[in-house]
Amino acid sequence: MGTIASVANKIYTCPICVGGKWIHSTGRTETLLNPATGEPITTVPHCTAEEVGAAVGAAHAAFDSWRQVPVPERAQYMFRYREQLVAHAEELAALITLEHGKTLDESRGSLGRGIEAVEFACSIPTLMKGETITDISNGIDSTAMRQPIGVCVGIPPFNFPAMVPMWMFPIAIACGNTFVMKPSERVPRTVVRLIELLYETGLPAGVCNLVHGGKEVVDALLTDPRVKAVSFVGSTPVAKAIYEKAAANGKRVQAMGGAKNHLVVMPGCDMKAAAKAILGAAFGCSGQRCLATSVVVAVGEAGDPLVRELAEAVDKISLGTGSHPKTHMGPVISAAARERIVSYIGVGKSEGAALVRDGRGAKPHDDTAGYYVGPTIFDKVRPEMRIAKEEIFGPVLAVVRAKNLDEAIDVVNSSAFGNATSVFTASGAEAREYASRVQVGMVGVNVGVPSPAAYLPFAGWKGSFFGDLHALGKDAVQFYTETKVVTSRWPSHDTEHKITF
Ligand code: NAD
Repeated sequence: MGTIASVANKIYTCPICVGGKWIHSTGRTETLLNPATGEPITTVPHCTAEEVGAAVGAAHAAFDSWRQVPVPERAQYMFRYREQLVAHAEELAALITLEHGKTLDESRGSLGRGIEAVEFACSIPTLMKGETITDISNGIDSTAMRQPIGVCVGIPPFNFPAMVPMWMFPIAIACGNTFVMKPSERVPRTVVRLIELLYETGLPAGVCNLVHGGKEVVDALLTDPRVKAVSFVGSTPVAKAIYEKAAANGKRVQAMGGAKNHLVVMPGCDMKAAAKAILGAAFGCSGQRCLATSVVVAVGEAGDPLVRELAEAVDKISLGTGSHPKTHMGPVISAAARERIVSYIGVGKSEGAALVRDGRGAKPHDDTAGYYVGPTIFDKVRPEMRIAKEEIFGPVLAVVRAKNLDEAIDVVNSSAFGNATSVFTASGAEAREYASRVQVGMVGVNVGVPSPAAYLPFAGWKGSFFGDLHALGKDAVQFYTETKVVTSRWPSHDTEHKITF
């Protein structure tokens, strides 16, 4: 069983994987620090253009034979992969916690969601099915079939080291594509292990390849004519730039961006349940989730009791190393992230919001020297303030007051983002109206986080998404396949003579 101690005992150098071979990059390297302790744990390379080209070349070379592997056989690789992941779940969770900082329970939970995407990919024979119309004309049948598209690329963010990459390559590969994964250069080790385990299934060499790096490596992937599709998840400015560049280079793109998620609390709802859900949604993973609640819109008399409840509850949250059993909330990813979050708290104060709880200077219970920010709550935030509009990506919650549901919906819809939102209410009519009118991709009713399920599409709207087909669900299968319609006539001796034009 993996433990933090067993995965953290030396500085690990991340290899790359090209055509099934694990090798070391000759590119410049960077040392990554454990966010909980500040100690060096990993060396990650930035691949050279030749290495990126070789990885794409290996994927390109493997495509023709992989696409011809029968679909049920491709599903069998996914069944075996699922078993590998389950068998190594504790090791993977420890790795996620080591390089990201989140608690072990949070790591286990997000890994479970990733495994769910592999389980979804196991049903690829059903998902790939096309449709047929017989006798579309005299003696003529038409069949629409789904075919893989070729080399696909995945560019995930740092905040889900396993889950987000697993939205991408298992489904793409099950569809018959080959893949080049470029993990976040801040959490590359988990993906190395995920791909090692993938090859334990007997996967043919070159079907999944791995490179490391940042913008330069991404640019090399986006401009390579052999790459056909790009799945990106990250911040909005990068999502937009990647969408534009990949599309300009003739690729299909799904680019998921950043978020500013609102949770509306209506008077009369179960206030205790709402407060508990907000705590998890705002401060889980230290607020570093694209589905994190960062703005609560408290309607009418809901505001005062809710803020009181939240303030009391956050005082009980203990910060520390993610692997420590007493820890509720881990560090943020880096010193730079902590600085950004702390500076936003300053911005909120200077904008005139009421600072109810201040996470600056919060100390971990285990005295580690990582990048900690405590849970922070601002009340009396106005929608036009920067802390209400901009993605902070840390444990900072803004409470906005609204008079009624209409005003709350206006606040939500005035956001440049549209990733996720929730409403807490005791009224079915309010819930229905809310779900119908908000311009947001993922909507929760009486749940803190409307989490993605592998069986349904997942993405935001507006500035949170650039593209057409979402991740996961049938959208992902459509994204990773192309439709072809074959119209056939096989005249028999008898019918041949009957056909007239
Ligand atoms: P990021 O945009 O900095 O990086 C994401 C990926 O893009 C990384 O692999 C990185 O190497 C690459 N990259 C960074 N800058 C680039 C550039 N200029 N050109 C090309 N590639 C570049 O995001 P992050 O900080 O790693 O992750 C946090 C962000 O991701 C937040 O904004 C969060 O909301 C978002 N996110 C969104 C979703 C979603 O489903 N919408 C899910 C998780 C995270």
